[in-house]
Amino acid sequence: MNSKIIACFSQLFAADPLVVFAPGRINLIGEHTDYQEGFVFPAAVKQGIWAGITKNELGLCRLYSLDFDQEFSFELDSMSPKKGHWATYVMGICTLFKQAGYRIKEFDLVIGGNLPLGAGLSSSAALSVAVGLGISEAFDLHIPKKDLARYAQKAEQLFAGVNCGIMDPYSSVFGQEGKAMLLDCRSQSHDYLPVKLGEYKLVLVHSKVSHSLAASAYNQRRSACEESVSLLQTTYPELLSLRDLSLTDLPKVKYLLPAGLFPKAKHVISECSRVLEAAKALSRNDLVHLGQLLKASHQSLSQDFEVSCVELDFLAQEVIGMEGVLGARMMGGGFGGCLLGLVKESAWVSIQEKITAAYQKKYLLTPDFIEVAPGGGAQKI
Ligand code: ADP
Ligand code: MG
Repeated sequence: MNSKIIACFSQLFAADPLVVFAPGRINLIGEHTDYQEGFVFPAAVKQGIWAGITKNELGLCRLYSLDFDQEFSFELDSMSPKKGHWATYVMGICTLFKQAGYRIKEFDLVIGGNLPLGAGLSSSAALSVAVGLGISEAFDLHIPKKDLARYAQKAEQLFAGVNCGIMDPYSSVFGQEGKAMLLDCRSQSHDYLPVKLGEYKLVLVHSKVSHSLAASAYNQRRSACEESVSLLQTTYPELLSLRDLSLTDLPKVKYLLPAGLFPKAKHVISECSRVLEAAKALSRNDLVHLGQLLKASHQSLSQDFEVSCVELDFLAQEVIGMEGVLGARMMGGGFGGCLLGLVKESAWVSIQEKITAAYQKKYLLTPDFIEVAPGGGAQKI
């Protein structure tokens, strides 16, 4: 991809660019916990977005997306980032950098990647981080890593209209080869844990569906959690977010919350506990327990948090029942996207054949399979 970006850049802009890479991410466990300041357990992957960039003196930023085969240009003084266009992430980052007082000038940019879009691997965060790092490098801004993650998060929130947490850009920035990150979304700090899977590996089964309620449901779930927090604060005055509660609080929480809100709160509270359990299981190489936690996470996301869909539930049920599978769960915001599985390498080919046959029969859809392994974070190539 690096050479493809360079070749394209030279053809379009007759220059040799500086190239940066920012990875997508998986999340082992800890879904819908980040915006309640909870724990998540992501890892950067080897797939991501590459961006080639040079300064220009044209008074105009010229962009090209290899994957969309589309050009776009804008002036730094009159940007209008709109939802739904890839250039929005670029203009969003530029707007935020300018507001923060960074002196940026016009540039040429080519982007391309090998992440599936909208599959839950956070191609959007990878794009924002790649653009942010590219601009920081091209203009010698030395933007600190954590700030890069925060600008990328803000770009999505303010300009792409997704009220996302810090996990996605953070993982893209801080990923390390062979390691997952136990990230505390309150302190925004992390510990690296080696991912040693022996004869097992992490795989994604892409359902090929993305139901349109994803964005609105995401915002509704966020609000439901916030409502629970404010209701619980009368009894727990110190409570700042659901992350402050533990499994032993659940009976009391059940009593205090309306029936519609309790399962949502229960998911966040139990999922935070599963994340910490999973980190312990991985540290002692207990992959069987890790697999059980993945299954419990799916169950909770589907039944309590209600962010799964029939296709993902079907895939999860099929995959979990197969020989050589330790566990699986839906990954990402929900309503489509991918299932993350922990599977035995030797069984992987036959698992793919069986899932494909079953999914085609049931939904007339062919799933995609993506192998993932923890990779390094955003960097200049
Ligand atoms: P996810 O982050 O789960 O992959 P999103 O819907 O949040 O899905 O982000 C996908 C959007 O990010 C795309 O519609 C596009 O605007 C932008 N994007 C992602 N990857 C690329 C790419 N390789 N080239 C251009 N734009 C991209
Ligand atoms: Mg995204």
